[in-house]
Amino acid sequence: MGINMTTDKVVIITGASRGIGAATAKLFAQNGYAVCINFMTSDIAAEQLKNEILQYTAKCITVKADVAKSSEVQRLFDIVDKELGCLSVLVNNVGILKAQCRFDEIDEQRFGQVLNTNVMSCFLCSKQAVKRMSNKYGGVGGAIVNVSSAAAKTGSPYEYVDYAASKGAIDSLTKGLAMEVAAEGIRVNAVRPGLIHTDIHASGGEPNRIDRLKTKIPMQRGGEPTEVAETIYWLASEKSSFVTGSLVDIAGGL
Ligand code: NAD
Repeated sequence: MGINMTTDKVVIITGASRGIGAATAKLFAQNGYAVCINFMTSDIAAEQLKNEILQYTAKCITVKADVAKSSEVQRLFDIVDKELGCLSVLVNNVGILKAQCRFDEIDEQRFGQVLNTNVMSCFLCSKQAVKRMSNKYGGVGGAIVNVSSAAAKTGSPYEYVDYAASKGAIDSLTKGLAMEVAAEGIRVNAVRPGLIHTDIHASGGEPNRIDRLKTKIPMQRGGEPTEVAETIYWLASEKSSFVTGSLVDIAGGL
């Protein structure tokens, strides 16, 4: 891929210091975007990624912010306005899951935290993005890509029904928002990855979860973060100019 050092397009990727978010940040940088890497805890990983990305693009910033909190989301978007300029693309990538268990073992605090992190972050960031992108508010349009999950379809029984429910909410939010802003220059879509090789599975208590489950995947393997990033990039690009409100499965046939 050629290196494009013009940075007229701006992307924010939430939770981008590792995994699918990091792969997505690299791909946008390789395509000439100015990139904002949002992260919450991993200062060192975020700085390392920024240094790597600066090989491909002239502009990259890291912003530490908990995107489940509205004041921090406001600060994140204000920094991007000031340092990178007009927002073109938002990728709502943040997502957490907790230890695998039965539904009736999930306590109220955990349920609240998973819903708040996964759904509220998408709601708060999308709201800020719409205010900047919509031609109703003087913006020039843009694209929002939400990272949902195949769990929205399966419900994740005996693992994390709370996580699955949060991804179901992302799907509904994607559909409704897409229709509201379709005539205002903004496209809103979601990807629904299946089993992808990242560190998220360790949070569920089973780092090798994909090894256990891969024979159930028609393609007989887990996916790579770069394979998800390619679809996110396509949904954000003009190549998908008539696609909105779509939920794209990236799951090896699941
Ligand atoms: P990951 O754990 O590597 O990435 C998630 C990132 O979000 C982490 O860096 C984490 O620190 C960050 N984060 C969490 N809460 C945050 C907050 N409040 N503010 C800012 N950052 C926060 O996992 P991943 O697999 O790369 O996941 C990325 C997305 O893909 C998630 O939404 C996940 O649900 C989704 N997904 C992953 C898979 C998979 O198999 N890996 C499958 C389907 C969907």
